[in-house]
Amino acid sequence: MKTINIAIDGPAGAGKSTIAKMVSKELGYIYVDTGALYRTIALFLTENGIADEDIEANIERADVSLRFIDGAQRVFLGDRDVSDMIRTPEISMAASRTSAIPAVRAYLFETQQKIARENNVIMDGRDIGTVVLPDADVKIFLTASAEERANRRYRELMEKPGCPTYQEVLDDIIKRDYQDTHRKTAPLKQAEDAVLVDTTKLNLEESAAAIVKIITEKTS
Ligand code: C5P
Repeated sequence: MKTINIAIDGPAGAGKSTIAKMVSKELGYIYVDTGALYRTIALFLTENGIADEDIEANIERADVSLRFIDGAQRVFLGDRDVSDMIRTPEISMAASRTSAIPAVRAYLFETQQKIARENNVIMDGRDIGTVVLPDADVKIFLTASAEERANRRYRELMEKPGCPTYQEVLDDIIKRDYQDTHRKTAPLKQAEDAVLVDTTKLNLEESAAAIVKIITEKTS
């Protein structure tokens, strides 16, 4: 039976994962956060001290997998659940850099396609509508202004020790946007047939409702 695939792409901090989780719960789809896969590869490369030129020869050793526990995605490196430890600014930046390497993208391409073949998914990332699932039933490009995205990230990080300043968060977002949109392989861009949803002035519930409406209209 053909599965239903929804692609949600957009820049860092647009609210993709929170909103996609809400939408998948409402529609009963599996939510797949592909950024977590790239973060886990970055962790693997950092922990093993693998230089960029040696990635291609070593990537198959990474053993990255997704498991769904009570409907929530957890990401594993070998037998280790690394879902929480990949959420640091260092890993964000390392993931943005190493995700530009074609061997990394090729390795994760098949992982992502397999999940979408086997499940009804809402998959979020940067190149889901353009490269990973070009035939997705619905494609959404979710964005918000860089300042609003930095505000949201800053509010999340504020409660944690060693919190960066707002300006540092904004600088990181601008740098990651640049890296993600300017890389040669699978750059972040809106697919021609994607629907643009700008969440700068929308709260989470309004954003999720807008997306549920688009998906319902397109899949019914
Ligand atoms: O979405 P998240 O911020 O967790 O992604 C971390 C990094 O992984 C992004 O900055 C991006 O460079 C990369 N990524 C990607 N393709 C995806 C998902 C994430 O290149 N599909």
